[in-house]
Amino acid sequence: MTCDVAFTQDAHLAATRHLLQHFERGALQEDLCFALWQPSTGATRRTALIDEIIFPLDGDRDLHGNVSYNPEYLTRSLDLAIARGVGLAFMHSHPSPGWQGMSETDVWAERDRLAYPAGATGLPLVGLTTGTDGHWSARFWCRDGRQMIRHWCRQVRVIGPRSYTAYYNDDTTPPQPRRNILKRTFDTWGSEAQATVSRLRVGIVGLGSVGAIVAESLARIGVSRFTLIDPDVVEEHNLDRLLHAAPDDIGVLKVCLAKRAIERSATTEVVNVLALPMSVHHDAAYHAALDCDVVFSCVDRPVARDVLNYLGTAHLIPVVDGGVAVETKPANDRLLSAHWRAHIVTPYHRCMRCNGQYNSSMVVMELDGSLADSAYVATLPAQDRDRNQNVFPFSLGAAALEVNLMIRFLLAEDWWPLVRQQDQQFVAGTLDVINAECQPHCAFRARRARGDAEKPPYLVQSVAAKPRCHPAAADLRPWWLRFVDRIWRIVRWSGS
Ligand SMILES: [Zn+2]
Ligand SMILES: [Zn+2]
Repeated sequence: MTCDVAFTQDAHLAATRHLLQHFERGALQEDLCFALWQPSTGATRRTALIDEIIFPLDGDRDLHGNVSYNPEYLTRSLDLAIARGVGLAFMHSHPSPGWQGMSETDVWAERDRLAYPAGATGLPLVGLTTGTDGHWSARFWCRDGRQMIRHWCRQVRVIGPRSYTAYYNDDTTPPQPRRNILKRTFDTWGSEAQATVSRLRVGIVGLGSVGAIVAESLARIGVSRFTLIDPDVVEEHNLDRLLHAAPDDIGVLKVCLAKRAIERSATTEVVNVLALPMSVHHDAAYHAALDCDVVFSCVDRPVARDVLNYLGTAHLIPVVDGGVAVETKPANDRLLSAHWRAHIVTPYHRCMRCNGQYNSSMVVMELDGSLADSAYVATLPAQDRDRNQNVFPFSLGAAALEVNLMIRFLLAEDWWPLVRQQDQQFVAGTLDVINAECQPHCAFRARRARGDAEKPPYLVQSVAAKPRCHPAAADLRPWWLRFVDRIWRIVRWSGS
C-alpha cells in the first residue's frame, strides 16, 4: 500500500498562512499545528484527506527559532480526532523551499512523541513539512509490532476551484526526462507542467467513442499510468465512432482495444495500463479508481456518474465529465440540435447531479434494470430516451473539451479566469462558460473530503479479473503436426 496526502485548497491556504507567517515578515522562525485527516482507501493506495486545521491557541506552543507544542494542545487535538473518528496529522515549517527531509529532532518528535498517542485514533500519524514556497512533503507512521515505520508519501495534491497542484518527492518519484519524441509538448507548456502530467495516474471510465479519443490524447502528451474501466465489448454499430476499432475487433473488450492503442501511441519510455472489464460500481473497479489522481467520466450512465460524483467530492480526485446530446426530428429524418459539454467535479465545482447529468431515480432505475427495458424507455420524455445518437466529429468535440479542461486545471496560473464547465452548441456555433455551483441542500456538498466515510450504498462485491487482452493466436498447423508436438511435450514433461 502506497500513501499520499490530498488537501482542499482552503485547508492548504490556512495551514501555509499560519506555518509561514514568521518567514514572510523576515524572521527565521518555524511554526507548527495539528490537523484532522480522513482516509481514502484505494486498491493499492491510502490517501489522507485534509480539510480541517486545528490552530494553536495562546500558550499552545513555544517559539524559539525551532518550535515546540505544549501537551494540552496535543490532548485537545487528539480528543477531537477520536471524537470525530478521524486521523491526526502534525505539520511544521522549514526555512528553505522545496521537498523537505527530516532532521533527527523531527524524527524524534513524530516517531517517539506523537505516533503512539496518535494511534489511539486507529489510524497512523501523518507528518507533514512545508517549505517557504508552500511545497509540502509528507509521511505516514505505521505500527509494525513494537516499531513505528515511516512511509514517505509519493505525492501531496491540493485541489482548488481553479487548479490542481501536486507536490512530489523527486527522489522517489522522479519527473519524466526530456525526450525528443515529446520535444513539442515540453516546449509548449514547460518541464514543470510536464513533470506533473507524466506522474499522474489517470482513470478513464467508459472507453466508447469519447473515452477512446481521451485515451489517445493522454498517451500522446506523455501520461504514463492509466486505469481503464468498461465492461463492454466492441459491437458493429460502434465502428462508425470508435477510434482504432476495425471489423476484426467486434467482440473484443473495449478496455483491451484502448490498452493496445495506448501502448502503441505512448510517448513515454514505460507505460503502465490497468484494464478492468467491469462497471465502476463493482467494488474492485471502484477501489482501482480511488488509486487515480484524476478520472475522466466518458460514460452516459447514471450509476457510473453517481459513483464518480463520490470520487470528485468525497475523495478529492478531480473528475472530468462530459458528453454529447443530440436531438433529432424523426418525422422528417433530420438533425434538430447537438451540443457537447465538459465540466470538472470537485468540492469547488458543481456536482453531476446538480448540473443535471443524472438524477437519483435514474440511478435506481438502472440498478433495478428498468432503464434497459425498452417498453419502459418508450414512456420517457424524448431527451431521456434518445441518448444514443452520435457521430464521430461530435465525440471528437466532447473529448477535446474534456482533455483541454483537465490540462487547463493542471496548468492554471492565479490570473487565469475560473472555468468550471464549457458547453458547445453545434447549431448556434457558440462555446459557453458556465460557473454555477451546487444547489444549497445538495448531499454531495456535505460529503466534501469525507473519504471512506462516504461511499455509494449499492457497490457490487467482485474480484478484479485480468482480461485476456491478447488471446493466443489460432494454431493453423495440420492436425498430425499438432498431434506429434503434443506427444513430444508430454514425453519431455514426464522426463523432466
Ligand atoms: Zn523540522
Ligand atoms: Zn450538487
